[in-house]
Amino acid sequence: MVATNTIFQHGTLGLLVPGLYTGTITAGELLTHGDTGIGTLDGLDGEVIILNGTAYQAREDGQIREIAATETLPFASVHFEKPAISSPVAELTQAAFEKQLLKDYQLMNVFAAVRVDGRFKHIKTRVAPRQQPPYQTLVAATAHQPEFEGQAVDGTIIGYFAPQLFQGATVGGFHLHFLSQDHQLGGHVLGFEIDQATVKVQRFADFKVHLPIDNLAYLQEPFDNQAIDSAINRAER
Ligand code: ZN
Repeated sequence: MVATNTIFQHGTLGLLVPGLYTGTITAGELLTHGDTGIGTLDGLDGEVIILNGTAYQAREDGQIREIAATETLPFASVHFEKPAISSPVAELTQAAFEKQLLKDYQLMNVFAAVRVDGRFKHIKTRVAPRQQPPYQTLVAATAHQPEFEGQAVDGTIIGYFAPQLFQGATVGGFHLHFLSQDHQLGGHVLGFEIDQATVKVQRFADFKVHLPIDNLAYLQEPFDNQAIDSAINRAER
């Protein structure tokens, strides 16, 4: 039976920090664990947005394309979207939106999926540039990354909220990606302002982590929690 009340995460955000960018799960397998989510591709190649069972890559050149089932990812989170109540929102900055969600859904210590469909007055994204082995650290790899901006854009923000306690395993707090309706703009969200939209929040009691235990580099990496925390704060916000 398929778990519809669980976030399935392959890998950890922390494994990206020292540069473990090799893909260790196929998109095809990932999609058996959820139809909605976010991630990155092998080689830290762009930003992944998964909506309605289809995985898309926002590339560093600004192009958006569909990901094939055989492509691999080092890190991704997915869940099955359940019909949830959507509430309308209007005229909200990112800060006001996040504050409202935290309060309305009591999110602070909860895993949740966040989906916003509608029109954005302004949206700004960035896209991680594809790396070549031997891989640099996440902070070095993301020091220079292309940013994209749009005004009056229709599209979808999809991502997660995780309790701060899980920073390192994932991103503590909000981690959001974007895909425009016309597939002309996408990436990791740096900032936005909502014009008119509907918000769906799905809360999860279960967070499942699936680790790449057949990957030698992963097995041998001496992870450093403090370095991971500071790198996530620099690279993922
Ligand atoms: Zn991201």
